[in-house]
Amino acid sequence: MVSRVIPVDVFDLVIFGATGDLARRKLLPALFRRMRDGQMPGESRIIGVARRDMEADEFRNFVRDALEEFEPEAAEAPDVLKAFLGALDYLVVDVRGDAGWEALKAMLRPDIVRAFYLSVGPSLFGEIATRLKKHAIAIPESRIVVEKPLGHDLASAKALNARLGACFDEHQIYRIDHYLGKETVQNLMAIRFANALFEPLWNGQYVDHVQITVAERIGVEGRGGYYDKSGALRDMVQNHMMQLLCLTAMEPPAKFNADFVRDEKLKVIRALVPANPQSTVRGQYRAGDGEGGYLDHAENPDSNTESFIALKVEIESWRWAGVPFYLRTGKRLRARMSEIVVVFKKPPHAIFPEMAQQGSNELVIRLQPDEGITLNMTIKEPGPGGMRLTEVPLDMSFAEALGAGHHVPDAYERLIMDVIRGDQTLFMRGDELEEAWAWIDPLVAAWEENGARPKPYDTGSSGPEDALALLHKDGRKWREIES
Ligand code: NAP
Repeated sequence: MVSRVIPVDVFDLVIFGATGDLARRKLLPALFRRMRDGQMPGESRIIGVARRDMEADEFRNFVRDALEEFEPEAAEAPDVLKAFLGALDYLVVDVRGDAGWEALKAMLRPDIVRAFYLSVGPSLFGEIATRLKKHAIAIPESRIVVEKPLGHDLASAKALNARLGACFDEHQIYRIDHYLGKETVQNLMAIRFANALFEPLWNGQYVDHVQITVAERIGVEGRGGYYDKSGALRDMVQNHMMQLLCLTAMEPPAKFNADFVRDEKLKVIRALVPANPQSTVRGQYRAGDGEGGYLDHAENPDSNTESFIALKVEIESWRWAGVPFYLRTGKRLRARMSEIVVVFKKPPHAIFPEMAQQGSNELVIRLQPDEGITLNMTIKEPGPGGMRLTEVPLDMSFAEALGAGHHVPDAYERLIMDVIRGDQTLFMRGDELEEAWAWIDPLVAAWEENGARPKPYDTGSSGPEDALALLHKDGRKWREIES
């Protein structure tokens, strides 16, 4: 299947923090691929900004090296590579100071799309926005892109929204959650709203429960300082998992546009029952497999921060009354795996003797390591010998379904092009961000008041035993964590 590529308008994109990890690993390779596939017009320009003293040609070499490492196929398209490197420019600016901004302004062209990607630490977001406005670089049509962490509680999220809002209108602010740029996550909406099959079943009458898992094999190495102030709840649940929950649970929007979709997501967050600390399990991984434990990497060797969390979430609505959403995420688990699983109820009456042992239908929406969707069904085991039942997956791996050579775009490819197109549908709105924190904060406060330590768990496991018990006591069980 050949993908349809609609070129975007010519743009000037400024990447603040262009020498950093995110820019090297994700943003620049994503932009290269968009040019290779014909979506990024050749006259567009990408201007890297950072403090490191470099000429534009040195920056081009730096980007060539980054592509060699993270997009090795770039070498197979030398003409595109040349054009891409030719589209790059670089400027030294310490964004905390006032020097360099007028030079940046002079580099930007009037009357074309202008976007600023803030690939720097969050403490610089406000500084950059303020200076872009002060130096009249931010014009009414320009866009600003920020990524997590977007605050660490409601008060700081409000302060960030206010600071950005003083310089940019809400329709100019793109809060990236790269999970929303994943093909499968968008497919969740296509499956729900472009098929007649699932939506009638998508409620408490037919759905038993929903599981959302984001499991990582890696630990916090190298990020111990940041992570220790954050923990799994703030780092993963407040943003990515909350967004996945919203897309799974939201009502069908009247139209697929930014405000309609975001209104529906917001309603889900507002309908969440306050988290019950008794229905949460926090964990910290032990040393194992030759690697140190969480506490060996944490800033505070006596840290109380969780590297794992499992929680039961309920939604007060007609659709979801009585349907628990179980969320879990953690580091140093058995495998890298992210999935949303909608577990359906069993048929109301069992006509085959084996049905009691049979599992339920499950719709598995897999985000990592490979993207795809599976519907687990019960069928008759082939052959003679009576009516024996077996479970089979109806499988749709995107890479296979779309054919050899079809490249499943990285989330950043889709999202950066959406910024250029001016489409905010897959970005978080300010009120969503604040409501999500408003739900998280009381849970953090309850943990702090309680002071209980996270439960230790083994590296390579599924997390603490108590996380298994969270479902067992409801008569359910987690799906295995496996890649
Ligand atoms: P990083 O590797 O530390 O890069 C930071 C960049 O900011 C560097 O280019 C740095 O270059 C520049 N910078 C720092 N202070 C500056 C200043 N005063 N003026 C101008 N430039 C400055 O960080 P990162 O991992 O790329 O992350 C960037 C942002 O994305 C962070 O907010 C992070 O939380 C978020 N994020 C990252 C990832 C990821 O995979 N890395 C994933 C999700 C979110 P100089 O030192 O040369 O100035």
